[in-house]
Amino acid sequence: MLVIQDLHKQFGNLRAIDGLSLSVNTGEILVLMGPSGCGKSTTIRTINRLIEPDQGTILFHDTNILSMEPDELQKLRKRIGFVFQHFNLISRLTALENVMFGLVMSGMDRETAQNKANDALAKVGMEGHLDHKPAQLSGGQQQRVGIARALAYEPELMMWDEPTASLDPILVREVLVVMEELARYRASTMIVVTHELSFALRVADRIVLMDKGKIVEEGKPSQVFVNPISDIGQKYKELIE
Ligand code: ATP
Ligand code: MG
Repeated sequence: MLVIQDLHKQFGNLRAIDGLSLSVNTGEILVLMGPSGCGKSTTIRTINRLIEPDQGTILFHDTNILSMEPDELQKLRKRIGFVFQHFNLISRLTALENVMFGLVMSGMDRETAQNKANDALAKVGMEGHLDHKPAQLSGGQQQRVGIARALAYEPELMMWDEPTASLDPILVREVLVVMEELARYRASTMIVVTHELSFALRVADRIVLMDKGKIVEEGKPSQVFVNPISDIGQKYKELIE
């Protein structure tokens, strides 16, 4: 569904993405890992053009995202969900209203939006907290609302950028459980950036390792974490042992 070819992005003199190519198949759960600063966030942010790359092609079902007009891009963004490290919920809205907000803004009638928001919140186990505002929810619960907000669009592709990174260790688990569940039911194709090795081992169809803006290794977890060919892969292997 997604084919990235020869992608480049420079910030000043720094090559954040340096000739990266990657294909993602429909239904696949891909986990993208690598050291801090290797370009993971930059890579996934180019996919819905939160960041404009300098060069390359990103085909989504054979259409080049990088040459889309603003109206096409707006439509595309509804097909691609994004869950960030920071939840960015609207503080004066309830959990339900936070999930409904984008749907209503994009022209959906309130009743349909409410039904979709209810369904999405139930999928992440938040049906008991519909009327709570973000300040009345734990970090893990807030992140689950963030996940529901992305799910409500029924995206074909979901991208996750370290969704558990700003949670305390006890809350990390509840979010990982939700993610694992969504992965198991193949709710959508997923690209997950995470440092959670055990999640990657259990859930990924394919691990992609990056270093210095390039892909240095990819394969099944059993291959990458057992017989790595890259230095980065070797480091992960040592962490698991
Ligand atoms: P982390 O695991 O810490 O989130 P990452 O792999 O997601 O790291 P990126 O955020 O993609 O890394 O950053 C890649 C490189 O590009 C880093 O060296 C970073 O400092 C740099 N960079 C990212 N965004 C910008 C920006 N807007 N301006 C300048 N440099 C940037
Ligand atoms: Mg990042």
